[in-house]
Amino acid sequence: MTLFTDLFIDGRWRPGADGRRFDVIDPSDGGTIAAFAAATEQDCMDAVDAAAAAQPGWAATAPRERGEILRAAYEILTAETEIFAEIMVRENGKAWPDAIGEATYAKEFFRWFSEEAVRIPGDYRLSPAGDKQIVVDRSPIGVSLLITPWNFPAAMATRKLGPALAAGCTTILKPARETPLTAAYVVDVLRRAGVPAGVVNLVTPVPTGPLVKRMLDRPEVRKLSFTGSTEVGRDLLHACADTVVSASMELGGNAPLIVLPGADLDVAVEGALLAKMRNGGSACTAANRFYVHGSLHDAFVERLDAALAAIPVGPGLDRANGLGALVSTAERDKVAALVTNAVADGATLRRGGQASAKGAFYDATLLTGVRHGSEITTTEIFGPVTAVVRFDDVDEAVRMANDTIYGLMAYVFGEEREAVAVARRIEAGMVAVNRGVVSDPAAPFGGVKQSGLGREGGAEGITEFLEEKYIALTADGAR
Ligand code: NAD
Repeated sequence: MTLFTDLFIDGRWRPGADGRRFDVIDPSDGGTIAAFAAATEQDCMDAVDAAAAAQPGWAATAPRERGEILRAAYEILTAETEIFAEIMVRENGKAWPDAIGEATYAKEFFRWFSEEAVRIPGDYRLSPAGDKQIVVDRSPIGVSLLITPWNFPAAMATRKLGPALAAGCTTILKPARETPLTAAYVVDVLRRAGVPAGVVNLVTPVPTGPLVKRMLDRPEVRKLSFTGSTEVGRDLLHACADTVVSASMELGGNAPLIVLPGADLDVAVEGALLAKMRNGGSACTAANRFYVHGSLHDAFVERLDAALAAIPVGPGLDRANGLGALVSTAERDKVAALVTNAVADGATLRRGGQASAKGAFYDATLLTGVRHGSEITTTEIFGPVTAVVRFDDVDEAVRMANDTIYGLMAYVFGEEREAVAVARRIEAGMVAVNRGVVSDPAAPFGGVKQSGLGREGGAEGITEFLEEKYIALTADGAR
């Protein structure tokens, strides 16, 4: 398998200007997979120059041409799904089924936006006074900086590249330092699909913060699309203010999962497993706090416990494993500390709670008797830990669910009418009712409150990369 370990600038793979590299680590054993090029300030400026030079030409291509390039990239990823998944497993540590799931989800953004490229709407209307024709064009916003996290290294990149390219924007992709290989592979797929030089660039700036700021300071950069933590998102919003850059933010989550009285336990346990354990819990959409009604609590806990016990844990390249490694030992230790503190705060460790001696593995863990408001209910766990709070009053469950600065995702299990009524009361950009997964390229993904600004996917996703231009014409009757 060819691993791309260089920067991609103006249609060419090249090392960083000063030759520095950083190691990419396999979290399942701590071994080094590759030494990836570190981008200097000069490399970052070259990427902005290349994207800016390519912008007018790319904006002028026919929408169908852009759509067909994205479709070709989708076809390549379909033919190479296993390669795609293997790179993710190696640098991220995720289990094989999660990697295949992500590869499938990721490529669908290219197919979806290949179809959206040819459906960019405009508006036309006569002014109320009848004197003007109001024509509204939607044009590409311009050079777009796309910053992605390590937890979904493929899907977060395609979810931004797809709409940006479909809209006619040129791009600079900055992947997380833990997972640059997946991003580099996606970029090479786009190159093979026929993306012209300068339209897609990839940089891995070191140091990250100051060099990202330098790129945002360039007036040619008109868009920042960021997925990552709320803390970094806040800093970047400040940085965007200086050059009034349009910002889309997909930030942290703290999803509540509510099991109402009357829920079907089979459905609730199956959904809870998916909502918690998909991607080993390293998902912004992962269920973080389980609020279970007293009438179902004991049975729910018992069945969830048995289901967690049945998940094989180990390296993702062994395809039988259902739970892989966390991305790093630092992440694993963060999860372990949350569990230790929860127990000190009165929770009962019903299962798990062990970190591996080798590699960044952490057992599937179940905590009961968790206190709402304790650290583990206010912090994004980002690991395979289920924290259960018991409740007796539905209004109180809704209050606890909304008692957070975040508002990305929520899950509600119950009799459908009641569950939908509760879903409508939850402050979140997305609510799953009687199911454990919502993500779909055809649906608008995003959060409210401090979980984000804007939406990715759906009909909304491409609009983040377009801006309106109003052209006023004199109406025929007014001449
Ligand atoms: P992170 O915020 O640490 O890093 C995200 C990206 O920002 C990385 O590429 C990182 O290198 C870069 N970065 C870090 N510091 C920066 C700075 N000062 N200036 C510019 N860029 C900087 O997040 P992470 O640990 O990689 O990812 C986990 C977080 O991402 C979680 O909070 C998770 O909820 C969130 N996430 C959100 C979504 C969503 O759609 N809402 C999806 C996936 C992950």
